[in-house]
Amino acid sequence: MRTDAAPGGSEHGEQTLTGIGISPGIAIGPAYIGDRAELPVGERVLAERDIDAERARFADAVALSVRQLRNLKLRAAALPGEAAEEVGYLLDAHLAMLANSRLTRGVDQRIARTRLNAERAVQIEIDELAKGFAAMRDPYLAARIDDIRVVGARLIRNLIHQPYTAYAKLAEGAVILAEEVTPADTALMDPRRIGGFATVFGGTDSHTAIMARALGLPAVTGIPGLLERARNEATVVIDGSSGTVIIDPLPETIETFQSRREDFVRERRVLARLRRVPAVTRDEIEIRLEANLELPVELGQALSCGATGLGLVRTEFLFLNRNDLPGEDEQYEFYAGLVRGMGGRPVTLRTLDVGGDKLPEALAGASGADAANPALGLRAIRLSLKDRRLFDTQLAAMLRAANDGPLRVLLPMISHVDEIRRAREAMEQVARRLRRRGLGVPRSLPPLGAMIEVPGAALAADTLAGEADFFAIGTNDLVQYALAIDRSDERVAHLYNPLHPGVLRLIQSAVEAALRRNIPISVCGEIAGDPRYTALLLGLGLRELSMTPRNIPRVKQRIRNLDTVAAARRMRAIMDQSDASRIAALLDDFNTIAETR
Ligand code: PEP
Ligand code: MG
Repeated sequence: MRTDAAPGGSEHGEQTLTGIGISPGIAIGPAYIGDRAELPVGERVLAERDIDAERARFADAVALSVRQLRNLKLRAAALPGEAAEEVGYLLDAHLAMLANSRLTRGVDQRIARTRLNAERAVQIEIDELAKGFAAMRDPYLAARIDDIRVVGARLIRNLIHQPYTAYAKLAEGAVILAEEVTPADTALMDPRRIGGFATVFGGTDSHTAIMARALGLPAVTGIPGLLERARNEATVVIDGSSGTVIIDPLPETIETFQSRREDFVRERRVLARLRRVPAVTRDEIEIRLEANLELPVELGQALSCGATGLGLVRTEFLFLNRNDLPGEDEQYEFYAGLVRGMGGRPVTLRTLDVGGDKLPEALAGASGADAANPALGLRAIRLSLKDRRLFDTQLAAMLRAANDGPLRVLLPMISHVDEIRRAREAMEQVARRLRRRGLGVPRSLPPLGAMIEVPGAALAADTLAGEADFFAIGTNDLVQYALAIDRSDERVAHLYNPLHPGVLRLIQSAVEAALRRNIPISVCGEIAGDPRYTALLLGLGLRELSMTPRNIPRVKQRIRNLDTVAAARRMRAIMDQSDASRIAALLDDFNTIAETR
């Protein structure tokens, strides 16, 4: 982290902080410190018989808060220099406030005594404690009031399961600064109102990052000390391309970034003109460029960017920010809307991929989020095959939507042929059931594909190719699992490298298996949307890429400059290398030559 306090700036001085740029673009606006927001708390008087359950609900919220704080503390320990110590002390103080403290005992007794709901009891208890501290006129204790309020807000958020609804009420163009922003929080951000966000924690290809790119929200993560240096309402600049955050910028800094923002918008406009031209290489190989859909708003973008289909619809957002599960009809309406909206272009719906950093409230218990290694636990297809009701409801909605146009079903986190067989049996059973209910299902069921994102699946792709109708390579998870790098952990983000020879061999293995079996294969991880990797993917034999719609024009531009024979030749040289930095140099060199031709 770099911190420059410029002399002669505003009253507070300009401060430049550097983190990881996860979503490009520039935002300039008033800071909104997310974790200090007003939370919507209702008041209810409970029946006598419900008091014990309410006290237990409060105890659960305390336990969850402790787990969250311990987790944050582990991650804070790796922050550089004094930041680790500073943040560590703060989190220790917060933990102490939850350990059989005056606060927790007070709330518990208040629920029993006044029969108020837990979140309201927390709010009153916090106000009482704050009043008591203020009366002592001790500056040290006065500073603790803020901490108590932060802990209270965490408890309330965990009780009401509504992390950041206050985002809706922000000032126009506000820049959100927070400890951490989850994919569910990001889904609540309206890009027409919110400028962008910056956080203390978070890595490069996390689902939060993908969501931010989908919304076109400039964002930077991994900035230790961010919250200590910012104030609500202070002007903040976020440059999501370079990973820079500037607090209290000088007037000339604002001017520089305003003009960079104009350049960025102009470049997008120029690229948008490529919409109607085909994605064809110099040697006339046509490449399918499809869109990943993370949120419904992207359907319009997919169409306006000239996507040839939806290569990956992440259905998780239907399940986020709610306490119940979406039923068959609700899901059907959504899927059918996409299929109709794409007007005959194929739509690939992925079945629920929860676990790791995406966790709907309604499945919090079922998906083993508190397992020691949630990323390796009961998630994605594993959860679907275990909870057949959940899976069958989703399959039924998808099969009904297949009447409205071409649709494919994609299974996440496949590691074994048996999972594809069982999923196919489930799909056939569900189809029979729908027909018995008198609901039409196409005579030939939709193609059933496997995500290749587990290293074992990539290595044994030839075995899977006999069962799956198509493959989609999920490089985000493939890199995470192959290199043992948590994709949402900023401390190891520098090690997250798709150019590692091990990752390239895994991709190659999957491509070769698909080509031998003659089944379609695409890449739908984030590298598909980054023009830096286009030559590499084409050189490996891929002809279908799926990406966040906004990236389609940039990748198309790159494709139109490429020759697949030359790319394959460069790829062979790359596959002989043992060192990822040499691979990067060979790739960048090839990209520069192609660009300047
Ligand atoms: C991937 O893992 O590359 C992928 C496309 O899926 P997700 O990012 O949703 O895990
Ligand atoms: Mg994945």
